[in-house]
Amino acid sequence: MLSIQNLHAAYGKVQVLHGISLDVPKGKVVTLIGSNGAGKTTTMRAISGMIKPKEGTVTLAGKNVTGMDSHQIARAGLAHSPEGRRVFATMSVTDNLLLGAFPRFTRSRPRGDIEHDLQNAMELFPRLRERRHQLAGTLSGGEQQMLAMARAVMLNPEVILLDEPSMGLAPILVDEVFRIIQRLKQEGRTMLLVEQFAAAALAVADYGYVLENGRISVHGPADKLQNDPAVQAAYLGGG
Ligand code: ATP
Repeated sequence: MLSIQNLHAAYGKVQVLHGISLDVPKGKVVTLIGSNGAGKTTTMRAISGMIKPKEGTVTLAGKNVTGMDSHQIARAGLAHSPEGRRVFATMSVTDNLLLGAFPRFTRSRPRGDIEHDLQNAMELFPRLRERRHQLAGTLSGGEQQMLAMARAVMLNPEVILLDEPSMGLAPILVDEVFRIIQRLKQEGRTMLLVEQFAAAALAVADYGYVLENGRISVHGPADKLQNDPAVQAAYLGGG
């Protein structure tokens, strides 16, 4: 569903990604793990068009979207829930969610039932239902994070990129985020997940890639990576 071949990316002269290839098959959850600064966020940005790759290709649902603007890639069916809490602070929770569905009005695929999807999102994120009339800027940090995720779901995309959805959350909310990811997986969504909690990410994922200094060092089925001594030592708290 999403395929990246030989992706190179840089900020100015500083090369960050040195030829990354990865695949996210339809209906699967794939996780990208790696230390701070390895290039995980940069990979997400290069996929979603927030930065232009220097080299390589990004294919989404059979379409080459390399180098397109992010709004075009969103219309092609990619939702990016970026690191940090990006919500429209002066709009209500419901309006934020409806805005998430906006690219569906302009792309060629069937628009689907937005009202139904809004109810579904509220069901998936009960905290948002309780606060649906509240201005997004007055939500707690964790609630804003959930709103950013729910907005990505409202695009009804082919693929969802989730960049550190649990960042800065209290443990109880971290558990809730992983529960929601599990639910989205059960719904058959296709996701690429970047997470600081590598063990939890591998537990929910089907497949994993380890990124080291802008290169994929190891990849394999998530359960295999969980049991790989080198991966355990480096990323899973020493095993
Ligand atoms: P983390 O887990 O800390 O978020 P990451 O694996 O997501 O790390 P990236 O955010 O992709 O890493 O950063 C990779 C490298 O690119 C780092 O060395 C970082 O300093 C650099 N970098 C990121 N954003 C920029 C930018 N806008 N301008 C210049 N360099 C950047």
